[in-house]
Amino acid sequence: MSDTLFSKIINREIDADIIYEDDQALAFRDINPQAPTHFLVIPKKAIPKLSDADEGDQILLGYLLLVARRVAAQEGLEDYRLNINNGPGASQTIFHLHLHVLGGRSFSWPPG
Ligand code: AMP
Repeated sequence: MSDTLFSKIINREIDADIIYEDDQALAFRDINPQAPTHFLVIPKKAIPKLSDADEGDQILLGYLLLVARRVAAQEGLEDYRLNINNGPGASQTIFHLHLHVLGGRSFSWPPG
């Protein structure tokens, strides 16, 4: 498994503004926020992208949504958008699965 920027954040080799951590997941503020609140939720397990996850990841994937919900509440968000980019064609740039959580403004649909 390649060492991504996000695994370096997990291992504290790179600084990040970490706002939540437990034994399975980490949440930190996006360095280039696209909304007043924009944080990323990642599993500590290095799954490159959602399409690489399998049945054995079922509980972990659900858990990431619960972490997103918990941290969104901690950030005072009621309405927010969750986004997962899967693959380069969907604008994924870092190949360690992550959920974007954005809030603090209104969002249009469909996304660009
Ligand atoms: P994606 O394009 O879905 O792969 O999203 C990667 C996200 O990681 C982008 O929104 C970046 O702004 C964000 N990002 C890149 N480097 C860092 C970093 N060092 N700390 C926090 N977020 C980062």
